[in-house]
Amino acid sequence: MTTRFIFITGGVVSSLGKGLASAALGALLQARGYRVRVRKLDPYLNIDPGTMSPIEHGEVFVTDDGAETDLDLGHYERFTGVAATKSDNVTTGRIYSDVLGKERRGDYLGGTVQVIPHVTDAIKKFVVADLHDEDFIICEIGGTVGDIESLPFLEAIRQLGNELGSSRAMFIHLTLVPYLSAAGELKTKPTQHSVKELQSVGIRPDMVVCRCDRPIPESQRNKIGLFCNIRPDAVVPALDVDTIYQVPIDYHDDGFDGQVLRHFGLSTTPTLDLDAWRQIVNRIREPDGEVKIAVVGKYTDLPDAYKSLSEALSHGGIANNVRVNLDWISSETFEEENTVEQLSDVHAILVPGGFGQRGAEGKMRAARFAREHMLPYFGICFGMQMAVIEAARNLAGLPNAGSTEFGPCDDPVVGLMTEWQKGNATERRASGDNMGGTMRLGAYPASLEARTHIAEIYGINEIAERHRHRYEVNINYREPLETAGLKFSGLSPDGMLPETVELVDHPWFIGVQYHPELKSRPFEPHPLFSSFVAAAIDQSRLV
Ligand code: GLN
Repeated sequence: MTTRFIFITGGVVSSLGKGLASAALGALLQARGYRVRVRKLDPYLNIDPGTMSPIEHGEVFVTDDGAETDLDLGHYERFTGVAATKSDNVTTGRIYSDVLGKERRGDYLGGTVQVIPHVTDAIKKFVVADLHDEDFIICEIGGTVGDIESLPFLEAIRQLGNELGSSRAMFIHLTLVPYLSAAGELKTKPTQHSVKELQSVGIRPDMVVCRCDRPIPESQRNKIGLFCNIRPDAVVPALDVDTIYQVPIDYHDDGFDGQVLRHFGLSTTPTLDLDAWRQIVNRIREPDGEVKIAVVGKYTDLPDAYKSLSEALSHGGIANNVRVNLDWISSETFEEENTVEQLSDVHAILVPGGFGQRGAEGKMRAARFAREHMLPYFGICFGMQMAVIEAARNLAGLPNAGSTEFGPCDDPVVGLMTEWQKGNATERRASGDNMGGTMRLGAYPASLEARTHIAEIYGINEIAERHRHRYEVNINYREPLETAGLKFSGLSPDGMLPETVELVDHPWFIGVQYHPELKSRPFEPHPLFSSFVAAAIDQSRLV
């Protein structure tokens, strides 16, 4: 079957949830038996989001093949179950860097290198590359129509639309229909303007999806259709929801996927069975109980910085039929004496990934509190490293233990990785290397020791999980740490890199060097998160 392309643009304002809209459409088409892949074009000049602060950009989502990508790819994976790859996200920076690389090599044979056609050709090539018999490629264009930076992307998809024809290409525009309380009315003008803006670059949307905080009356939909030159039934509402897993259900009820199929001349029968989604939503809305989990991190003011993490915790809740209430705490809070006591009323503590020294001592205090009070503790990447340093200092008699990430120290129990195995090759890094794209990235295998807590949770001994870090627990400290009760329960296949640790005399104290949250999905909650939430439930019964 020939692949069809659905381009999703956004207008009026940013943060309308284009990523979720793309993911939800992907899920609906997939539920109809189609093969789907979702891609994203990001207009900024960074080569990838890897060097951006989470506060700036939100979480960096890492793929199995080691790409650092936009967090929307996490939504795509969670909604469609299709693992994203490096061919699913590109930025203007990457496109320009490739074009300029070719220019320096002389590949343009003396020609003048221009945005059109060279940059637009590179974008088009990216959109249609690396296909695997997909029925649909859904391609989200980041940013808002009207931004200077997204122009080359819009031009590229306009050209693609022409080349493919409407039987193989469709344009969907997501806009905002605001309610003006002073006027007591929903306003369609911003949508009209935004569609006009899109038309001015030669793209006529086939469908307009309108974000709104209340139902949009038919009269207003007709008006949008009339002014935007679209059939009224191709004006689809996208109303606010209490859980993101309701989005595909609502879209379907409002005819979103039906309109898409009609556009391509495909059958809309048989009717779609979305019971699996309804079950997830019911479990979220009507849990049997609640637990409170503290997330002690550095970027706690911006929930997007920990998107996959909060989703994975909610999946752990779904698996156990409980609501997981998250208490986001800035780790710097705990750098003052006696503040850590505020953790007494939570049922579990999680310290997520992070970078840099700021707040690190507070994270170690949180780990110590969990260790001493027998509270479930889950340390992810940096959260594992901090738990190891804490155990080294306070259990293993190494008061000067530290991480070389914070500068030289006497006992570097966490140190810079300069060499590791990737498949059959050796990757090498030095301390002065570039920051971008040089971490240990992507899926790596690890072997779990039989009869450890973590092996029991996974139910298998060989795992592969996604990594994103520069530093690593130093295997040379294994002996004193294990003697003190912190077991190195999982290692890289060559036995050189500690992948997981656990406290032996503790109900649930696990650190992992990788990011398990990146692989958790609502229909397949990650076993570590299910088990961690179950431990929090046990804890809640004790207090
Ligand atoms: N800063 C640490 C490192 O680079 C941890 C990174 C992380 O938590 N993802 O190793």
